[in-house]
Amino acid sequence: MAVVRIGVLWLSLPLTLSMVLGLSGCGEVRAPAGEIHKDDVVRVRKTAPVRRAVDPEQLAARLIAQQPGWPGDRPLVAPRRRSIRCKQVKCVALTFDDGPFDYTGKVLDMLAEHHAKATFFVVGQMVNPQTSLFLRRMVSEGHELGNHSWDHPPLTSLSHDAVRGQLEHTQQVVKAVTGATMRLLRPPYGATDAKVAEEAEHVGLAQILWDVDTLDWRDRDSSVVARRASDARPGSIVLMHDIHKSTVDAVPRLLSELQVKGYTFVTVSELYGTQVLAPGKRYAGEAGEDENDKKRS
Ligand SMILES: [Zn+2]
Repeated sequence: MAVVRIGVLWLSLPLTLSMVLGLSGCGEVRAPAGEIHKDDVVRVRKTAPVRRAVDPEQLAARLIAQQPGWPGDRPLVAPRRRSIRCKQVKCVALTFDDGPFDYTGKVLDMLAEHHAKATFFVVGQMVNPQTSLFLRRMVSEGHELGNHSWDHPPLTSLSHDAVRGQLEHTQQVVKAVTGATMRLLRPPYGATDAKVAEEAEHVGLAQILWDVDTLDWRDRDSSVVARRASDARPGSIVLMHDIHKSTVDAVPRLLSELQVKGYTFVTVSELYGTQVLAPGKRYAGEAGEDENDKKRS
């Protein structure tokens, strides 16, 4: 009986969150260098009230309970990290935010067909018994996971403690279902400041922004999304969202087009090779300017 009740809760969660995200536009609407505008924060607060629909600790416990033997005798084995010299070959890091969601498995299938690796920035609240299988698949197939907060607020609008809670809860749930400790953070909306940087550093997360924005949350047209993604340059980090069907539909085309141009699809960490991504610091790909330097200048 308990299982049935939990099942209903799980079914409702992704739908609820996707509706909330849809209302808020769920867009990383700002260029990586920009701070979020006050109007955006007000709009997001009005349309996407932060609700703690489920306690992260309880969620982790339930997920573990539904996967007997995990963690323990069935550890996930991630393939060894590849050594790709992205200063010599053309690399691009495709990133997918806001999932895992119903379409995520299809994205994983298409990436596998093209021997492509990508990075998925996980919203903690989207993790449920079904989608947690996608997270485990990501790890076992060599993709990278990153933290995208617990329920997608603009972190700049929260207190220090609330930011830390957003990050730690998602770390906890992903660790519970995959055994993986995430090292990357994508702040929702690209909204970050000194407070977010400090908390990201505390949790051990480098902040990963982007230099190619497909605006796929706004323009639900797969050919437009594919074209924008295909404009990537060597060293680019491309922003997409695997909660939109139009984005998922764009994936085969953008993979083919970038492959024809000679690109290798890498994770964010692979893109930076031996360079250690420092917790708290911001990175926006190797194709653009260093945002930290630009900020100081
Ligand atoms: Zn997002």
